[in-house]
Amino acid sequence: MTTGPGVRPEGPLAARLDAALRKPAAQQPVWPDPRRARAVVAELSRAEPIVAADETARLAGELAAVARGEAFLLQGGDCAETFAGDTEAHQRGNLRTLAHMAAALVHRAGLPVVTVARMAGQYAKPRSQSVNAQGLPAYRGDMVNSVEPTPTARTPDPARMLRARAGAARSMGVVREFHRDGEIYVSHEALLLDYERAQLRVDDRGPEPRLSSGLGHFLWIGERTRQLDGAHIAFAELLSNPIGVKIGPSTTPEQAVEYVRRLDPHREPGRVTLVSRMGHAWVRDVLPPIVEKVTASGSSVIWQCDPMHGNTYLSANGYKTRDVRHVVDEITGFFEVHRRLGTRPGGIHVEVTGDDVTECVGGASAITEEDLPTRYETACDPRLNARQGLALAFAVAELVAASRT
Ligand code: PEP
Ligand code: MN
Repeated sequence: MTTGPGVRPEGPLAARLDAALRKPAAQQPVWPDPRRARAVVAELSRAEPIVAADETARLAGELAAVARGEAFLLQGGDCAETFAGDTEAHQRGNLRTLAHMAAALVHRAGLPVVTVARMAGQYAKPRSQSVNAQGLPAYRGDMVNSVEPTPTARTPDPARMLRARAGAARSMGVVREFHRDGEIYVSHEALLLDYERAQLRVDDRGPEPRLSSGLGHFLWIGERTRQLDGAHIAFAELLSNPIGVKIGPSTTPEQAVEYVRRLDPHREPGRVTLVSRMGHAWVRDVLPPIVEKVTASGSSVIWQCDPMHGNTYLSANGYKTRDVRHVVDEITGFFEVHRRLGTRPGGIHVEVTGDDVTECVGGASAITEEDLPTRYETACDPRLNARQGLALAFAVAELVAASRT
């Protein structure tokens, strides 16, 4: 597969990129040797892209269909990919689970499904505390430091960005081989800007020249880095890739309108996906004014529900977990809101793996809090296992089918 050399940014786009990257950027590591980090960024810039701009453009077309209500968006995978965990068996298991979930949705909901894996670059994590209870720097994902709890292992190492790129390229090979019955696109959180800045090619096919990231088809901005005056949103504005923005319960309708105005000035259906992750207790109250105001502003975004990140809690035995009942309840509330407002529930975004893990309680595997230690393997947030994921897809398929009557 040829990805094409592309044209590196210069002129006005390069100047806008520099200005974006000079804005305050949340959640960035402090590299102990900035010169070494710059050398790594230069080396990354010379590497082959992981995805082709043509593929990303095809995804944009499919997401336009999602925005029009003609397809459903299924996004999922690990919370954090890891170097050690990136075996072909693990990746194929995750892809198989996504494919089964997509098949369940197509079969029952009668809509084409656009499948996007959290894969091939999901190696950097935002953290709520930069130092943990033991005084160690937080683990920020394998792209930055090691999960091992020692001061040396937790020191950010820019060479990890090179390992991440190589791992992402290998993962993309697994995805391409898996394809056969339909395309699976890849996505990750555009968090670590030294990584993201390195693979940008001028893309002239849209309404204005933009930059196509060769590091993933779909990129999203997380809940902790969506500051309107920050670097991440300014960076996302310049990309031609479809963009997601995670919106949590503190998001105001005015902020949501501003994300859409900034990221989708030409009102291209499906260019922006607003990923609501409100929590099951909040979604019915917090989401409606946001949906109303964005809809009134005239843009057609994709409304996607992430029913995971607003529902995390600590179990009595000390595991970060989620209850499948809360996950289902948030999605149900999300569909209720859209039915009430006459808008379209466009997709779901979940943390799920094909491995038989015990990280989330309840659901198809009836996992209890006591069961959590049996196979709790995630490097970050708890994932649904294959059975829980498939059962969720059947439940969502019913909701999609009902929303179309
Ligand atoms: C995530 O998707 O893993 C994540 C950190 O989500 P959020 O930004 O919504 O908290
Ligand atoms: Mn997560």
